[in-house]
Amino acid sequence: MQQASAHGEERGVSVETFSSAGVRWDLGDLFASHDDPRIQAGLADCRGRAEAFAQRYRETIRVAGGPAAERLLAAILELEALEEDLKRVGTFADLLYAADTSRPEHRDLRERVELAATEIGNLVLFFELEWMGLADQVAAGLLGHPVLAGYRHYLDRVRRQRPHILSEAEERLLNERDNTGPRAFARLFTELTTGLRFPLERDGRTDTLTMSEVLALVYHTEREVRRRAYETLFDVLSKHDLVLTAVYETLIQDHLTMDRLRRFPHPMAERHLDNEIDEKAVEQMMAVTEENYGVAQQYFRMKARLLGLPKLGLYDQYAPVGEALPACSLDRARDIVLQAFGDFSPTFREIARQFFDRRWIDAEVRPGKRGGAFCASPAPSLHPFILCNYTDNLRDVMTVAHELGHGLHGWLARKQTLLNYDPPLTTAETASVFGEFLVFDHLLRVQAEPRVQLALLCGKIEDTCATVFRQNVLTRFEQAAFERRKGGRLTPDAICQTWIEANGPYYGDAVEMTEGYRWGWSYIPHFIHSRFYCYSYVFGQLLVLSLYRRYKEEGAAFVPRYLQLLDAGGSEAPEALLKPLGVDFHDPVFWQKGFDEIRSMVERAERLAGTLER
Ligand SMILES: [Zn+2]
Repeated sequence: MQQASAHGEERGVSVETFSSAGVRWDLGDLFASHDDPRIQAGLADCRGRAEAFAQRYRETIRVAGGPAAERLLAAILELEALEEDLKRVGTFADLLYAADTSRPEHRDLRERVELAATEIGNLVLFFELEWMGLADQVAAGLLGHPVLAGYRHYLDRVRRQRPHILSEAEERLLNERDNTGPRAFARLFTELTTGLRFPLERDGRTDTLTMSEVLALVYHTEREVRRRAYETLFDVLSKHDLVLTAVYETLIQDHLTMDRLRRFPHPMAERHLDNEIDEKAVEQMMAVTEENYGVAQQYFRMKARLLGLPKLGLYDQYAPVGEALPACSLDRARDIVLQAFGDFSPTFREIARQFFDRRWIDAEVRPGKRGGAFCASPAPSLHPFILCNYTDNLRDVMTVAHELGHGLHGWLARKQTLLNYDPPLTTAETASVFGEFLVFDHLLRVQAEPRVQLALLCGKIEDTCATVFRQNVLTRFEQAAFERRKGGRLTPDAICQTWIEANGPYYGDAVEMTEGYRWGWSYIPHFIHSRFYCYSYVFGQLLVLSLYRRYKEEGAAFVPRYLQLLDAGGSEAPEALLKPLGVDFHDPVFWQKGFDEIRSMVERAERLAGTLER
């Protein structure tokens, strides 16, 4: 159905029709509409409770000798319930906005909720500050108290922030200023990039595409289409050089300033603390990844041979090889995923089925909708929601599998309370990548045709390269950009050059980078919304490669231990969560195992290609 749009720029947009047309999520479990009176009432209720909470507990936590354990527990429970209700409103506003960023009423609602949440956050801020303010010895006594056992991990995590917090007045001020500071820049980025249109000439006519649509063309069979898609992407982005640079470089400076004020020793330190992982383990993982760039290059050379090219161009990286993968409707995708998940565990199948049956997925491609894909798992009292842009490609099946993996995690972890719910970033991508592997193996098994097998295998290797090697490149780029910003303001040229330098060692002489690729950094949302997020993809993928290998060795015996990991949500630090699965990420051999698995996939593809050439 054609939707009336207030934006002139929407006119002339031609959207291909996919099987996902009309598949929209039902947000009715949250609220009825953007002007549902329950939203305002909910916010007012949360605010009232926050005020009462402050009255009851202010200056009763940071007291000589500490509060009684029972009193601390009562406060935590109250706070947790409040946050849970606030999540419902916040999630609704976020999802409504993601579904159509162009509607002013969606933007308004989100802004209103953000402001209210900030106010409420400020009212209860004292609680964690007072807890952090207790002397170590007093805190240790409470941490060991059996009454608080269920919240030990939460309380411990908060204490770790102790060296980095500012006074309450400063924290409140920052919280309020962030709305027109870093959060405003992030909003500008989202609104700019979702509004961009890309004119692409094909068969004598010019199509105006959204970013998701133009990015989907990097998988096109025709080299010329791929080349032009890339060119158009970077051409349009480069025209916004001023804003894109200003946004990124301001956010870097903001982070550097905050790092100084909060006494973080380096730009990644805050992320490591959040991830509950130490710098040494991450650096080790990244170094081992770099040592293995050759594996990716070995693959790129093989791919060039398969495509009959002397050398791969950047825009050939994701070109289909072997047999063109058959198109796949969303209905079929559903069957495939349910079957593959079901083979692993019937529990998986039943949980995943709900997402389709109960309309927790928004799969349609339409203007104004956020690009890419995500799964939101807001709180134990709610269910997860998935957004994707499904374009009938077999690759999109993997995306659905990925997001459903998150969905399973979000669903199973509902056994935890809110403060123990979210997994740390380091294990946040475990279930998603594992879900992709299940579906990939299933697809490979049911395909008898070697050319289709090769196509699948190459697709998986490319995805793995994109998740492991490329994310490592992205992280190295961020490190370098932060380092460079310390020397003064960054020009567009300086950021572009930093980007190319970070990509150099990965592509080596196996892939030719294009001129336009200088702008490759400028549309990546992670750089804007969550700095240094990308290494958790490397972590997650390598972790899963090793877990998946174990599943293949142990079979059914592995399943319950894996389910336990998902059940546990964020109730423990990653090291403790993974211990029952025998994972030690301080051991370089552990990381190398993941790469051995990637190499064996590349070798398998080479053998398959060899038999086809003969
Ligand atoms: Zn993910």
